Amino acid sequence: MSANLNPFEMAQRQFDEVADQLDLSSDTRALLRNPLREFHFQIPVRMDNGQLKTFRGYRVQHSDARGPCKGGIRFHPAETIDTVRALATWMTWKCAVADIPLGGGKGGVICDPSTLSVGEKERLCRGWVKQMWRNIGPRIDVPAPDVGTTPQMMGWMMDEYSKLVGNYTPGVITGKPLGGGGSLGRTAATGFGVVVTIREALKHLGINGKNTSCAIQGFGNVAQYAALTYKDMIGGKVVCVSCWDNADKKSYTFSKDDGIDAAFLQSITDQYGTINKAKAIEAGYKIEDADAWIGKDVEVLIPAAIEGAVNGETVKRVSKKVRLVAEGANGPTTPEADELFKKNGVFLIPDFLCNAGGVTCSYFESVQNDMNFYWSEEEVMQKLDQKMNVAFHKVLEMSKARKVYMRNAAYMVAIDAVTRAMQLRGWL
Ligand code: GLU
Repeated sequence: MSANLNPFEMAQRQFDEVADQLDLSSDTRALLRNPLREFHFQIPVRMDNGQLKTFRGYRVQHSDARGPCKGGIRFHPAETIDTVRALATWMTWKCAVADIPLGGGKGGVICDPSTLSVGEKERLCRGWVKQMWRNIGPRIDVPAPDVGTTPQMMGWMMDEYSKLVGNYTPGVITGKPLGGGGSLGRTAATGFGVVVTIREALKHLGINGKNTSCAIQGFGNVAQYAALTYKDMIGGKVVCVSCWDNADKKSYTFSKDDGIDAAFLQSITDQYGTINKAKAIEAGYKIEDADAWIGKDVEVLIPAAIEGAVNGETVKRVSKKVRLVAEGANGPTTPEADELFKKNGVFLIPDFLCNAGGVTCSYFESVQNDMNFYWSEEEVMQKLDQKMNVAFHKVLEMSKARKVYMRNAAYMVAIDAVTRAMQLRGWL
């Protein structure tokens, strides 16, 4: 039955399991199981052909107990309110686990950005802000990029907000472009953070990273920087990535047994994130089916694409050699697949811990915006490494102390922090 759960039901089911283990009171559960607020709206956009098209937009603010809501905006054709609800909920846990003073939120627009011109995208971004500007702000809710959105889009949104409120407010949104209020290191941050947690997990498992190989699903922002950092920080090899092909409307796995060159693949990826197949084949890459990445004989799997990719079906292809799964994406593993990992003793770094590097760097960005003083890349990466390291070990300690799966341990750390904040504020 879990195969049919939508992402929000999946997030609630994960929460309920831990709420039972923690014996959480019913009012605390009621507050945390559902979002605090939701916005559903229409965004009218004048298209290049002169016609008016209306897009459906959302913002879900799950919790502001620990600080302003925080989380990305997705532009995706298959966006649903339940996906946004789930992602907003996971942002609350993510900020709590990373110990940054922020709550959880997420936004979305049902659209296919690859079909929009630059001007249409800009008008859609400005249109989103026109609907939401009274309910976002540096001390209310701070959006950021996610699937289908880019630093340039954040720049337009920041500009629209600043115009509407009548003063320059870079801290209203993060993931902005460099020179436009963005932080050094933000683009690489999520992938970099993923690999910091892998480094610590390999140490814990007593595995020498240099002897490992890893298979990555996806080749978006998270996957690209995870692949680049894996080689530099761990010293192991990445044997494949997978990628959406915008022309064929399907994904492929790009493999090279002696290790892919992520920088080369980046250089042949177009603006829609599609790797040029002909150039990859010419460089010796094998092109396989979308799910081939999950069946690779590797020690480490990094699902870094979209939710639900590791499910009851695909998990059957996972090799016995896999010791570690690092969830670069949000919600990539369904409860069914989780059960199998638990049973087989696969070590899992749960999404809201593993990919917390992005929002942590977003937090650094907003701190720099508030100070109007910007840090060097070295300073950002060093602070990021430290935060991710501490977060990983806090969850690991919880998992050892309570003898629970890493996902449940991460929930325990997060729920504890959010509940404490609610108590301190007199809500409970
Ligand atoms: N969209 C990213 C995430 O899911 C980053 C959110 C942010 O920076 O606010 O963590």
